[in-house]
Amino acid sequence: MRYISTRGQAPVLDFSGVLLAGLADDGGLYVPETWPSFSPAEWRALRGLPYAELAARVMRPFVGDSLSHETLSRLCRAAYAGFRHPAIAPMVQLDTELWSLELFHGPTLAFKDMAMQLLGQLFDHVLAEQNRRVTIVGATSGDTGSAAIEACAGKERVDIVILHPNGRTSEVQRRQMTTVLAPNVGNVALDGTFDDCQDMVKAMFADVPFRGEMQLSAVNSINWARIAAQVPYYVAAALALGAPDRPVSVAVPTGNFGNVLAAWVARKMGLPIERLIIGSNRNNILSRFLDANDMSMRPVEPSLSPSMDIQVSSNFERLLFELMDRDATKTRTAMLGFRTTGHLSVDASVWQSARSLLTGFTLDDEATLAEIRRLYAASGYLADPHTAIGIAAARAHALPGVPVIAAATAHPAKFPDAMEQATGQRPPLPPRLADLYDRLEKYTCLPNDIAAVQGFVRAVARRNAA
Ligand SMILES: *Cc1c(COP(=O)(O)O)cnc(C)c1O
Repeated sequence: MRYISTRGQAPVLDFSGVLLAGLADDGGLYVPETWPSFSPAEWRALRGLPYAELAARVMRPFVGDSLSHETLSRLCRAAYAGFRHPAIAPMVQLDTELWSLELFHGPTLAFKDMAMQLLGQLFDHVLAEQNRRVTIVGATSGDTGSAAIEACAGKERVDIVILHPNGRTSEVQRRQMTTVLAPNVGNVALDGTFDDCQDMVKAMFADVPFRGEMQLSAVNSINWARIAAQVPYYVAAALALGAPDRPVSVAVPTGNFGNVLAAWVARKMGLPIERLIIGSNRNNILSRFLDANDMSMRPVEPSLSPSMDIQVSSNFERLLFELMDRDATKTRTAMLGFRTTGHLSVDASVWQSARSLLTGFTLDDEATLAEIRRLYAASGYLADPHTAIGIAAARAHALPGVPVIAAATAHPAKFPDAMEQATGQRPPLPPRLADLYDRLEKYTCLPNDIAAVQGFVRAVARRNAA
């Protein structure tokens, strides 16, 4: 399988290449040159497989010749071995035709583990084959950093440094990062905001000699391998509910559009997904686009579902490329215009095809709390604020006779205050994390100064190289 950039001016790469590259050189995102598809008989043959094996078979066409099937299967098994549920992504029935697909049984209690755990395995394997090592640097306001650290801790070929804004993450989030004591992990509490952390990471990437010396790399949500690793759970869930012999719908609480894009990919591969429903909090750039062809950046407003507090849904560019009939010039013009004007303008025909593909839904904080309360009263189910938005979206837009799979993206124990406010219950952390508050933390406080941060990155990377 070969990969091309949505902006048409970057080298064509194979799976290993896009894994290590992340973003394309031309600022675009890598997508498969052609979409693989499975016949109904091929989908049926996946029924009942253990999750890791199903994941390897679904990802097979995307990986192509980069890895043998034995290797891919082994890496999938290793990636999911640490999950707290043998089904990896179990479903819970909430109503006659409504199911919660629980994606939060990984080490950091959020769905990002589903892809990131596999990414850690893939990085280590591909780097060993190429006799290379990389230093991953990233900024986080919470969830992504901990998932990346858990995925890279102890890996041979990878060192990782994550910057978080000092005093501005929740205690659970900070401890999930700072209590991972592997020698290849560095945590920086930066004197500044999340934006300062992000600017610092960008500045380090822009320093070309430093970037080369450290072999800097990133694991952010625009990495194609993360999308590919999110397709299998939609397949497993749909098969369990009767696909391909019966259609299903999918509802996803959305931030960067990665998770819902993976559902779209499953559909593109021939899985009968009738409706793709996307839930947002009040930072609802996608819903505004679907309602009124208005995709305009607005300042981010904090909400009860912080992982969806975004200004731009980066992965949307991949869908836009498809909606524009894979015209890279048109995609590039639209995206550059969006960057400079803060407004994406697309033809009415493109907007109409987006509307026929996606159903948008917005829920504010008050209604989110009400939905959590309602769910708890109806069935005793505790849904975190992100998950509750997806479930409310599913209920609002379900089609008669078509079961809906609602992606449950975080464990409710990650958001104890919101849960208590809505239900009076503070959900306990799962047993393996119960002592999180007693664990030793290790992190380094640094000023918002590039020389200081680069010195720290060097020290983490060198220790491992020595
Ligand atoms: C990251 C995240 C999301 C948003 O997922 P995208 O792939 O960015 O759309 C939703 N919920 C939770 C809990 C998350 O951590």
